[in-house]
Amino acid sequence: ATGHRLPDTDALRARAAAALDRCGVDLDAYTGAGADTVLARTPLTGGTLAHLAATTPEQTDAAVAEAHRTFMDWRTVPAPRRGALVKRLGELLTAHREDLADLVTIEAGKIRSEALGEVQEMIDICDFAVGLSRQLYGRTIAGERPGHRLSESWHPLGVVGVLSAFNFPVAVWSWNTAVALVCGDTVVWKPSELTPLTALACDGLLARAVADVGAPAGVHRLLLGARECGERLVDDPRVALVSATGSVRMGRQVAPRVAARFGRCLLELGGNNAAVVAPSADLDLTVRGVVFSAAGTAGQRCTTLRRLIVHEDLADRLVERIVHAYGQLPLGDPFDPATLVGPLISTAAHTAMSEALAEAQRSGGKLLAGSERCLADQAPHAAYVRPAVVRMPEQTEIVRTETFAPILYVLTYRTLDEAIALHNGVPQGLSSSIFTRDQREAERFLAADGSDCGIANVNIGTSGAEIGGAFGGEKETGGGRESGSDAWRAYMRRATNTVNYSAELPLAQGVSFL
Ligand code: NAD
Repeated sequence: ATGHRLPDTDALRARAAAALDRCGVDLDAYTGAGADTVLARTPLTGGTLAHLAATTPEQTDAAVAEAHRTFMDWRTVPAPRRGALVKRLGELLTAHREDLADLVTIEAGKIRSEALGEVQEMIDICDFAVGLSRQLYGRTIAGERPGHRLSESWHPLGVVGVLSAFNFPVAVWSWNTAVALVCGDTVVWKPSELTPLTALACDGLLARAVADVGAPAGVHRLLLGARECGERLVDDPRVALVSATGSVRMGRQVAPRVAARFGRCLLELGGNNAAVVAPSADLDLTVRGVVFSAAGTAGQRCTTLRRLIVHEDLADRLVERIVHAYGQLPLGDPFDPATLVGPLISTAAHTAMSEALAEAQRSGGKLLAGSERCLADQAPHAAYVRPAVVRMPEQTEIVRTETFAPILYVLTYRTLDEAIALHNGVPQGLSSSIFTRDQREAERFLAADGSDCGIANVNIGTSGAEIGGAFGGEKETGGGRESGSDAWRAYMRRATNTVNYSAELPLAQGVSFL
């Protein structure tokens, strides 16, 4: 541990309220008691920050109705003018960078630089979306008939329902919202019940941007609640796209419900990311890449490195260095600039971690580092846990499972084919990397018969993607893509247009009729 004393819950509550106030949110207006409350808590102490009134089913329906009404007009606003709203949002996010980062640290437990980094991602995606607002290009297609023009246009889709996870409480919202707004959609957001205050700040800043540019207030609606609230949103036929980020368990529940009403789904679910370390790897760089990806964010990123597949000639040396580096990681108060590992989201997450480690050891795994709980004397209801490294004899069932905690399983391989088979031998398909200086190996890993993930990297870790690329993964990760590249297409509908400007009526495929 860093030796720095943890802040107490009262101090954190005051800090959160001050940040919210600067973002234009009066916390008192949202607090409520009774059965339908959402508890705002902080993993720094495990203490409660506020009791918030949960959105009722009737309020959820009204929010969707309002978003739908607003969509009917918003879709006709020229895209560059919609971009002006997102531009203003980006300015406000920049001005309130520290406030948002405070809230991310308080509610999600991220260390300072990662919290600021997450806010930077929001600012970056706003920039990207503003540019996109002038680039929602369709195509003109070479048609087969004379005197005809064949083309496609992209139109706004409708209300986008966003469900988001606790571990990226602001970035995931902004990826969806900045892009959806320029695409002419409106958004109803059901954030994680673990990060409601952060959500209020985002909603407050967007409301200010809306007022500043004179956009309609109904472009964004926030719902506070847990699973049932999300289910109501998912089942509403006025919600054209459900963009859901979270566990595979959640995706299994959400996807069939959306499919049952022929709605569209964009799924960003769990990962079980691996790195292959080949004999030619630059070891200094590999150790840094591995430790950041595996222990950063206390192992609570969807792209966290969970499996290390190392060439057998290298394994002992590399593992020794990783274990040494893990021993040096300062753990503690995420507000302390010296800290690199903050708390897990809850003591339940620690229980899940301990169970997974016990299971790994039962199936022959050897715990080489970590798993100790720290600072329990200062914060008995929080979970500060040392990231763990476990050497596994084979890829057992627990290794194939995503445990949302800092556990790095180490496996060894002899041939690259074997490494790739191990790599792809899990149900999830989000992020992957190879550490090698051999171009043949690197290219093979990126080829059609290489990594089967949505993200495949060379000589960097599995986490920390830039917003310019499309983000998402295959298999149980759900197949969705968000953020950059052409991910915007998921938020629009495509119309294929054939215009006949001749006086003839030739039919396609040479069909004759009349
Ligand atoms: P979670 O699945 O518990 O919750 C995610 C969201 O879904 C929350 O808002 C929750 O209230 C809601 N929800 C849960 N069940 C629902 C249902 N049946 N109907 C409607 N809404 C429902 O996830 P979490 O614990 O907050 O986040 C961690 C998980 O998210 C990990 O598995 C992680 O890998 C994944 N994740 C994935 C990505 C990605 O982009 N692929 C990003 C971040 C997190």
